[in-house]
Amino acid sequence: MLANIIIAMVIGLGITQAANLVTTIYLHRGLAHRAVNVSGPMAVLCRFIVWTSMGIRPRQWAAVHRKHHAFTDVEGDPHSPILLGWRRVQLTNVVLYRRVARNPIEVRRYARDIEATKLDLYLLDHAAIGLGLGTTALVLVMSVLFGFPMWVPLLAAGTHVVLYLGLSGSVNSIGHTFGRRPYDNSATNLHWLAMLTCGEGYHNNHHAAPTSARFSLNRHEFDPAWPIIRFAGRLGLLKVRHSEVKFAAGARRHTEAA
Ligand SMILES: [Zn+2]
Ligand SMILES: [Zn+2]
Repeated sequence: MLANIIIAMVIGLGITQAANLVTTIYLHRGLAHRAVNVSGPMAVLCRFIVWTSMGIRPRQWAAVHRKHHAFTDVEGDPHSPILLGWRRVQLTNVVLYRRVARNPIEVRRYARDIEATKLDLYLLDHAAIGLGLGTTALVLVMSVLFGFPMWVPLLAAGTHVVLYLGLSGSVNSIGHTFGRRPYDNSATNLHWLAMLTCGEGYHNNHHAAPTSARFSLNRHEFDPAWPIIRFAGRLGLLKVRHSEVKFAAGARRHTEAA
């Protein structure tokens, strides 16, 4: 029983890490900021993982996130802990996300360049089908192939949902509240959050250099997605747009961390 619970949680964590990797490389650094160009089979694989493990529409995600960069921690920010309090952003991140994501005018305004394909409209935009497919595949592999009781894959899926939503919320809430601010912006750097979110926790660096494909910019920082991006680049699966770090206009380094 205990062994099965642990197995379910480890598998749930594994799925969340795969989802986090696709979120940061494909949705965030790729679509939202164009720091990397993900195309061909890698883009198809990422889109499939988004559909079956997150139920997100990429152009909506990019629109919400670009609006966050346009109005960071001022009126208009979809999920600012400065305006709403970090607990509220942490706990209701999905609700706050949907407010902008479900508004077609906002999505058109902020993600005009990301077209919905026919496949998106007829199939991949339907989150329930994708998540149902992902869960069914997990049940088939774990229960039918490996003989685990049915509740084990379901607990793994539940663990993934809680972890993925919790960690995405943490980047937006904790990542604008607690931590180091080497650059002069309201976001923060947290090593532990960066390790759990494939580099997203270096959020202060990211706000200072939003089009940089690498999120670790200072000593003692390690962006887990960066070696994977470089490796995928060498295999021709994606292209890094700027190999050097490009700071945003006005990005200033504090003389000492605040
Ligand atoms: Zn931010
Ligand atoms: Zn960003």
